[in-house]
Amino acid sequence: MGRTMKPETQCVHQGTLSDDISGGVNSPLCASSAFSYRNRSEVLYPRYGNLPNQRAVIQKLCALESAEDGVLFSSGQGAISAALLAHLQPGDELVAQTALYGGTMQLLQDEVARRGVRIRWVEADAEAIAAAIGEKTRVVYVESPTNPLLRVVDLRVVADQARRMGVITVIDNTFASPINQQPLTLGFDLVVHSGTKYLGGHSDLSSGVVLGQAALVKPIRATAINLGATLNPQDAWLLERSLKTLSLRMREHNHNAQHLAEFLAGCPAVKQVWYPGLPSHPGHAIACKQMLGFGGMLAFELDQTRIDPDAFLDRLQIIQPALSLGGVESLICQPTRTSHKSLSLEAQAAMG
Ligand SMILES: *Cc1c(COP(=O)(O)O)cnc(C)c1O
Repeated sequence: MGRTMKPETQCVHQGTLSDDISGGVNSPLCASSAFSYRNRSEVLYPRYGNLPNQRAVIQKLCALESAEDGVLFSSGQGAISAALLAHLQPGDELVAQTALYGGTMQLLQDEVARRGVRIRWVEADAEAIAAAIGEKTRVVYVESPTNPLLRVVDLRVVADQARRMGVITVIDNTFASPINQQPLTLGFDLVVHSGTKYLGGHSDLSSGVVLGQAALVKPIRATAINLGATLNPQDAWLLERSLKTLSLRMREHNHNAQHLAEFLAGCPAVKQVWYPGLPSHPGHAIACKQMLGFGGMLAFELDQTRIDPDAFLDRLQIIQPALSLGGVESLICQPTRTSHKSLSLEAQAAMG
């Protein structure tokens, strides 16, 4: 079915398991960790990623991202680490943006580099990324829009150059969601998400996913089985339930963030606002080309001569200072105290 369905319909119906016990319209929760292998072609086991509730989520997300196959994880970091470790060997080179999720930077520096992979850091700019791809490059790793300044990378430019050079392209699509951006249709090979964010959408579960061509997902599944960051059936079921409203939630996120960005841009105590939906944003033109919506994330800088950041946080009544994003409630985050806390002052300044 898939292709002719609109995303709204895919969100609700793709992958739903039939409930032969009750005839219920929702997927039943198959909570077992042990399954009889008699009269079955395949041995089911949680860590193999082949449980019914895990598969239901994968099928729904494959439809939304136009992917052939995927693997579900207990966190976004689990997905990113398995994707990279599966496709990188000692001696390989990885081209990665300097503007990345803090946890991903740490993963590259602590775990990937230690395995003899050389990391070539480049600006979040398509031409710079394309130019950095060399003979030894095996993987290009991209985020767009980035955290925290919502920089936008021209995905087609990166994908085209990488394909010419025979290099695997991976994108962290968490900030966009599959509703606002489908990188596989722009030529990317693999997409990762922190399902803890928009996909789960209610700040009550942790998960991650890798999606892409079956041939590239296969080695990632093997690595995932070795590393073991599997998603339990209960959270897979909850994630499937949450995905039914993903399209509706993203529409509202896009609408609210645009409204808030325009409001903040007109506030005297705000020095600058970063949101891809603002024509003043440096990535606006590229975002218009490759995104269907600009997302629910925006950044702004207070004029500290007019208002103290802590006083500002104290005065917020509904928006809570908390680390994470993509839930139905609105959160606010100072990167220097949360997502980018582990970086040096110089590195923080360099990232803006
Ligand atoms: C949160 C996040 C991750 C990591 O996901 P976890 O579920 O916390 O492991 C990776 N990339 C981006 C862009 C994120 O926001």
